[in-house]
Amino acid sequence: MSSLNLRGGFYTEDHEAYRASVREFVRREVEPHHLDWEEERLVPRSAWEAAGANGILGLAVPEEYGGGGEPDFRYPMVVAEELATIGASSYCLGLRLQDDIVLPYLLELCTEEQKRRWLPGAASGEIVLAIAMTEPGAGSDLQGIRANAVRDGDGWILNGQKTFITNGINADLVIVFARTDPDAGSRGYSLLVVERDDPGFSRGRKLDKIGLAGQDTAELVFEDVRVGPDNVLGEIGQGLIYLMQRLPKERLSLAAQALAAAEAAVRWTQDYVFDRTAFGQRVGDLQATRFELAELETEVEITRAYIQNAALALNDGTLTTAEASKAKLWATEMQVRVTTRCLQLFGGYGYMNEYPIGRAFRDSRVQTIYGGTSQVMKEIIGRDIAGRYPKDATR
Ligand SMILES: Cc1cc2nc3c(=O)[nH]c(=O)nc-3n(C[C@H](O)[C@H](O)[C@H](O)COP(=O)(O)OP(=O)(O)OC[C@H]3O[C@@H](n4cnc5c(N)ncnc54)[C@H](O)[C@@H]3O)c2cc1C
Repeated sequence: MSSLNLRGGFYTEDHEAYRASVREFVRREVEPHHLDWEEERLVPRSAWEAAGANGILGLAVPEEYGGGGEPDFRYPMVVAEELATIGASSYCLGLRLQDDIVLPYLLELCTEEQKRRWLPGAASGEIVLAIAMTEPGAGSDLQGIRANAVRDGDGWILNGQKTFITNGINADLVIVFARTDPDAGSRGYSLLVVERDDPGFSRGRKLDKIGLAGQDTAELVFEDVRVGPDNVLGEIGQGLIYLMQRLPKERLSLAAQALAAAEAAVRWTQDYVFDRTAFGQRVGDLQATRFELAELETEVEITRAYIQNAALALNDGTLTTAEASKAKLWATEMQVRVTTRCLQLFGGYGYMNEYPIGRAFRDSRVQTIYGGTSQVMKEIIGRDIAGRYPKDATR
């Protein structure tokens, strides 16, 4: 058994009670099926509805709209940790994208009428959410997007193409980041909501990836899609600002998933090396292995301390963009490092699909890329540091 239990008062009894129910859900509804979802390259809609029915989705949605009314970020962390124990990363990413990344836009920007229309389904899993920023020609540099919408009476006509969109095939509601005024600089972008059956909206390819096989990452195409005034999110012209405001939570969500996945990989590895023998002793008793185990456990536990602090800051509304970027940079790079080293300790079995470590290795790789690459995280952190030294003050 591993000794990874340094939760030090971070989780309360309520979180642990919630964990017990999530664990039961994972054992009953996810574990028997998630490898089939990987084969089929799609999580079925029934799995979304099961999450909704079991309090796994929509926790932050106010009760009057059918949710759990619980915005504490420690609860989604529990979900990520429990799904990581069985390596269900594809399913985890889809759920976390819905709740941690897309839902905040709806909770904070919707009109009352929009909330009544969308929040109950988002909480129950009947409405699958996605957010479409990236395009074939623009990812890190979001101001370079080409998707655009032009005025049409009281609404907008949207044209453009998006790619790499998580939940892209299943999505019923897509928040599309589009240019609405080419002459307005950073105030020329808006968020438009496109729904499943809107004429002119179609899905392109379900993309063939090297990991997260069960995730329906897709291309989306918008050809003269009419977006009525009821499907504009927040104010026209504020799209880029809305994205920037919500990126800290997105980054912390990915960091928390990275931590959970790395922790699970370390546990599987410890269990394995103390079961496997070589040269007449347990592999875990070889000093070289013990040194590896020591470093791996240390990496995870030190990371947990930062992520837990960041989670509490998010709960208080004080998490800064630079802090969230540090969490994402460190935790996802740590995940890739740790998972790679864990796989090595499995020897040849590490390369076999029958062990979850191989899949965890493949699934980890994208974590330093999406949600802002590690280079972009460094740019943000570096800019924050430089900002403390105004140029004219150093003369
Ligand atoms: C599986 C998956 C799921 C995704 N899900 C979504 C989703 O749901 N919605 C969505 O909108 N997008 C999604 N993305 C897109 C993702 O966010 C982008 O791929 C990512 O932001 C990088 O953009 P890019 O691919 O265009 O790379 P580019 O921006 O072209 O970057 C290429 C390289 O240049 C580097 N680079 C770029 N700018 C700088 C800089 N200023 N300084 C230093 N280096 C730099 C990058 O770090 C990278 O190494 C997903 C991607 C994947 C792979």
